[in-house]
Amino acid sequence: MQIYREEHRVFRQAVRKFIEKEMIPYLDQWEEKGEFPREMWSRLGRQGYLCPWLPEDLGGIGADFEYSVIIAEELSRIDSGIGISLHSDIVAPYIFSYGQLEQKVRWLPQCATGELILAIAMTEPNAGSDLQGIQTTALKRGDEYVINGQKTFISNGMVADLIIVVAKTDPKAQPAYKGLSLLAVPADTPGLSRRKLQKMGLHLVDTAELFFEDCRVPKTHLLGEEGKGFFYLMEKLPQERLLSALFSQSLAESMLEDALNYARERKAFGRAIGDFQHNAFKLAEMATEVQLGRTFLDDLIAQHIAGKDIAVRVAMAKWWISEMANRVAYHALQLHGGYGYMEEYSISRRFRSIRAHSIFAGTTEVMKMIIARQMGLSGF
Ligand SMILES: Cc1cc2nc3c(=O)[nH]c(=O)nc-3n(C[C@H](O)[C@H](O)[C@H](O)COP(=O)(O)OP(=O)(O)OC[C@H]3O[C@@H](n4cnc5c(N)ncnc54)[C@H](O)[C@@H]3O)c2cc1C
Repeated sequence: MQIYREEHRVFRQAVRKFIEKEMIPYLDQWEEKGEFPREMWSRLGRQGYLCPWLPEDLGGIGADFEYSVIIAEELSRIDSGIGISLHSDIVAPYIFSYGQLEQKVRWLPQCATGELILAIAMTEPNAGSDLQGIQTTALKRGDEYVINGQKTFISNGMVADLIIVVAKTDPKAQPAYKGLSLLAVPADTPGLSRRKLQKMGLHLVDTAELFFEDCRVPKTHLLGEEGKGFFYLMEKLPQERLLSALFSQSLAESMLEDALNYARERKAFGRAIGDFQHNAFKLAEMATEVQLGRTFLDDLIAQHIAGKDIAVRVAMAKWWISEMANRVAYHALQLHGGYGYMEEYSISRRFRSIRAHSIFAGTTEVMKMIIARQMGLSGF
């Protein structure tokens, strides 16, 4: 299905050029520091690459979802680009869809300029796959909510200025998910502290633990209605999973390209290593799997743009493409021999980064539960 028009192709060229000139030359330096410079957020904002889908009166350019896809695909070339898509296409939509006009006007234009960076905090030390186990509470006291609890593994958690926190506003609700709500918590609110976690890859997206101790936000920071948090998550998670599948797919394509280039150049026993039948077949298998992923993904992107319900199919794409990309990572690194294990080769960075994709935004196993349930199988 054709999803791109000429203006999309022109836009892709511009994004690619920007990334090649302004980001790729500095990647090693940023990786070493383990930080994506704050200044880059403003520059991405000035280019119109943050939340481009927002209407003009909220600071965007009213772009269709294809533009977000293009930005995400191009950003995948810096491996850790997912932190930017998380801000633009995963968290900002919660404010846009469920926020009051006053909340949208207050926060969204700054999200488009990069002055306000977003994160979403669902996971807790004892509640990851099973969000119904969330223990963080946000209890109403007068005109405020008082938040107590802990979140973990929060992407952009250190750099974020505003964090959408999933908390229990009604701890007695049965079933528990009916007591969950979304609250927008400014990062400088007293009672909120954060700690950066060290992780094996994705070094340009910080990951944090958040601690809430009598952290008070005005009642006006509730997003949407009380008790609807879980439903809002269910509505927005398909787009999050689509973007995660997209990053996995783009990474798989980059790793295949790395492997093919290397296999053509590297010589052993007097021949290019790609000319040994074993390696040629391995590359042919990788290319086939990568192509399968691309076909599935592009179809899903088109379905999503057309407004179709993709919840189950995106679960299929999310688990399969992320696992496929991990297989590609394994074989692409193997083809690089010892060089593949060295930091200066991009395959080693990509090998580490791709590992997270079968875990966040719902693990492979959780995706299979969603699919199995739709097939009428229960018992989980
Ligand atoms: C790099 C990174 C970034 C992240 N960013 C964010 C973020 O921005 N915001 C956020 O809220 N969270 C974030 N997460 C958290 C992520 O969503 C969770 O780690 C994930 O949902 C899994 O939860 P868990 O780690 O608690 O694992 P658990 O839920 O404890 O699962 C452990 C293992 O058991 C399996 N399992 C669980 N239940 C079942 C079952 N019923 N049947 C079979 N197997 C099962 C899981 O698949 C997994 O393999 C991030 C995680 C990582 C690694």
